[in-house]
Amino acid sequence: MPPKIQGFHTAHSDMVTNPNGRADSHLVTCRVCRMSFVTSEAKDVRSHEAEHAALAQGSMPMVARELLKTVGWNLAYQDRPLDLARYTAEDGKLAIVYGWWMRALYRGVSPSEFDAYMAEHLRLVDSIVAGTDNELSPERCATKRWEKYAG
Ligand SMILES: [Zn+2]
Repeated sequence: MPPKIQGFHTAHSDMVTNPNGRADSHLVTCRVCRMSFVTSEAKDVRSHEAEHAALAQGSMPMVARELLKTVGWNLAYQDRPLDLARYTAEDGKLAIVYGWWMRALYRGVSPSEFDAYMAEHLRLVDSIVAGTDNELSPERCATKRWEKYAG
């Protein structure tokens, strides 16, 4: 088995899932960008890093973009039922956290903090939705360093 290559999937292993469920698999799907890639393939890892670099600069993840447009079109017409059935709770969490990232980016956060910011804030939203969030929760404490970019 070739060694896994360091990257976002290594630093934040809870932010990727194993879509085929095999313990020896190097195929993962990223919770942030939704890209599926092979962690033992340098080319795949580089492509994944490039995707995160674009997202760090403000290129919204596709699912968040589509969600925003769906709501926008609904509001534009005012006479159509809002159909969000194709979106999941996971999509909503990503839209929330990426919205926070866009605000942080506007307020001067370094794009180099994107991976850590997204991972820590997705964990925070998980705890909020699970009802385990409080001022001293590990997830809340882990995001404190970015509070100056919130508003
Ligand atoms: Zn990703």
